[in-house]
Amino acid sequence: MTSPILRIAVPSPLHRLFDYLPPQAPHPQPQPGQRVRVPFAKGEGVGMRVEVADGSAVPAERLRPAAAILDAEPLLPQELMRLLAWSCNYYHHPPGEVYATALPLALRSGGAASSRGVVRWRLTAAGSAIDPTSLVRAPKQGRLLALFAARGELDTAALAAAIEQPQPVLKRLLDRGWVESREQPCLAPPEGHRAEPPPELNSDQRAAVTAITAAAGRFQPFLLDGVTGSGKTEVYLQAIAPVLAAGRQILLLVPEIGLTPQLVERFRQRFAVPLALLHSGLADGERQCAWLMARNGHAPIVIGTRSALFTPLKNPGLIIVDEEHDPSLKQQEGFRYSARDVAVVRAHQLGIPVVLGSATPSLESLHNAQAGRYLRLRLPERAGTALHPRMHLLDVRQQPLQEGLAEPLALLMHRHLAQGGQVLLFLNRRGYSPALICHDCGQVADCPRCDARLTYHAAQRRLRCHHCGTERPVPKQCPHCGSADLRPLGQGTERIEEGLKVRFPGVGLVRIDRDTTSRKGAMTALLQEVHGGEARILIGTQMVAKGHHFPEVTLVGILDADQGLFSADFRASERMAQLILQVAGRAGRAERPGEVVIQTHAPDHPLLRTLVAADYHAFAQAALLEREQAQFPPFSHLALLRAEAVDPTAPLTFLEAARRLAAGSADSAVQLLGPVPAPMERRAGRTRAQLLLQSNSRTALHRLLDQWVVGLEGLKEGRKVRWSLDVDPVELY
Ligand code: ADP
Ligand code: ZN
Ligand code: ZN
Repeated sequence: MTSPILRIAVPSPLHRLFDYLPPQAPHPQPQPGQRVRVPFAKGEGVGMRVEVADGSAVPAERLRPAAAILDAEPLLPQELMRLLAWSCNYYHHPPGEVYATALPLALRSGGAASSRGVVRWRLTAAGSAIDPTSLVRAPKQGRLLALFAARGELDTAALAAAIEQPQPVLKRLLDRGWVESREQPCLAPPEGHRAEPPPELNSDQRAAVTAITAAAGRFQPFLLDGVTGSGKTEVYLQAIAPVLAAGRQILLLVPEIGLTPQLVERFRQRFAVPLALLHSGLADGERQCAWLMARNGHAPIVIGTRSALFTPLKNPGLIIVDEEHDPSLKQQEGFRYSARDVAVVRAHQLGIPVVLGSATPSLESLHNAQAGRYLRLRLPERAGTALHPRMHLLDVRQQPLQEGLAEPLALLMHRHLAQGGQVLLFLNRRGYSPALICHDCGQVADCPRCDARLTYHAAQRRLRCHHCGTERPVPKQCPHCGSADLRPLGQGTERIEEGLKVRFPGVGLVRIDRDTTSRKGAMTALLQEVHGGEARILIGTQMVAKGHHFPEVTLVGILDADQGLFSADFRASERMAQLILQVAGRAGRAERPGEVVIQTHAPDHPLLRTLVAADYHAFAQAALLEREQAQFPPFSHLALLRAEAVDPTAPLTFLEAARRLAAGSADSAVQLLGPVPAPMERRAGRTRAQLLLQSNSRTALHRLLDQWVVGLEGLKEGRKVRWSLDVDPVELY
């Protein structure tokens, strides 16, 4: 009898599984979903057992035995294995990388699937006896000791929030015996919890909850289409309750910045159950703990960002995708999946309902609702007593702009502040200015590695490329003509903040962008200032747009609405409309009515005019019509082949070869567009190009992709480039 062949997904850039013989040593019965240690290339790898086959196309003498089967039981349930197999097929991505996505880091490299709990640190008796101020030669150790003395036990997150790179400092304190570690059981249940009574739902909310609840135990996608502040989160909470009561789990996906402490707090206060949180800010151990608790069912509620979609669940009952329009739900590198789309597939495979929620649904989802594939649940009114904010356009043509503000907006700010309101200003550009120009010769500081300008960051006195991370000190003189007259050109949030300080002296001001929130815990601290009321004016990038509930904000100013109006990307106007309405939605969320002012040079632009009528659906209808006429998604399907290389000609050469390959096997239902240079042709020192595939038939497109990808791997031109395939791309560069 021949032994069965193990077909294993080993992390590698190749689009296939690898065949192995079972290990020679005694091993547990091989089952799909177990990790297997295998010899790979010249070393070893840890892969996922996907299938067992009777035979292999690999000649018998070249087949090697696996080194060991690592899990006695499948680590991933069959349901998740099925989803991952579907994902490999659909996204045409190397299986090894797809399966690895589903595992926490330590498990990818073969670590034991057990949780050591969450580690925290505290002072020892010896440490308590030290006066932190006496450590003049080791100020960081002193600061950390003082922090322990003030706050008691600290976890990784608290440490990182307090000082930069705490690990070496912590290690010194541990070595000196002043601090000790303590393990807490993984995901301790909440202590001393008193569940809050839920509010009475309004009739729209009740209809939504009833519909979702009635779909228990079968596949049904819902589009929860509710204006900002309409109580979508409340609908989630009340739709979750019966699922929990039935002993089943809930998976809630949120965009990266939607995972606010506020949202998590609402879940904690409502339900006395352990919450498993999965996001990028976790230490590896914390992530693995949450993952395992989801897998063994001890965490009935799992909340996470994009990749949490692939969390194993013991007994799933409901999937919710909040802010389903958000671009961060789509992975933009490596395995480029859409967490929203795959969530619907997972719900389908599981036979459970899935809720996609948004105040500004994606055109794709609206289209699906119109086609009857999704059931649309509408919440047209704000919950409680809050009213829709009033929106108007402010024509800034020929108006003097002082640090980005036109006079009428500044006057309005004074009025709202005088009446005790808070003001939120939105500008989707961080840094001091997007460029630094020489006033004498007109030269602008460019990134040497990208087709992009360097952003001027005044506080750190640095120029930074927001595309590749290149940075340098601000030159004293123009490198071209030697002039010392270098001037910031344009506005970023940092510059607006500076202008506001002068214009509104003594008024509490908070800036929220990637620069002010990069340190762990910084965001929470800034939000505290807003909620505590010390901050009266907030200036921020899209980080302020989502999920936040700022009840005192009565005025929202959108400083520059023109960015998205004139872009070449066919999704730019949708994105802009969503951002504007999401930011606008921060205004007037409580008793005080809200007002939204949009500064623009194009006050007659039809997109802006429909938006200020606060009518996202009119906008969406018009945009869908345009998409249909142009045959863009959702009326067609796209796949984008990208290539990049240091050699400036290699990407186009590869893509030309790729095109010839596709043309050979293509049916006429798939159009090949390009290859063309990428919109930003040079990035991080590499030249980039792309080839777009478009088809009205998803089947035809995927039939072509199936063959093509295999052929692409064989192209010799492909060895000189990095290439990747993006199925359903959301960004075309
Ligand atoms: P969304 O998620 O749509 O932005 P939320 O669920 O956060 O809306 O609700 C907005 C505000 O209205 C919150 O303060 C919430 O507590 C409140 N709210 C929601 N539903 C109700 C209700 N039925 N009655 C009273 N207040 C409500
Ligand atoms: Zn110059
Ligand atoms: Zn750059």
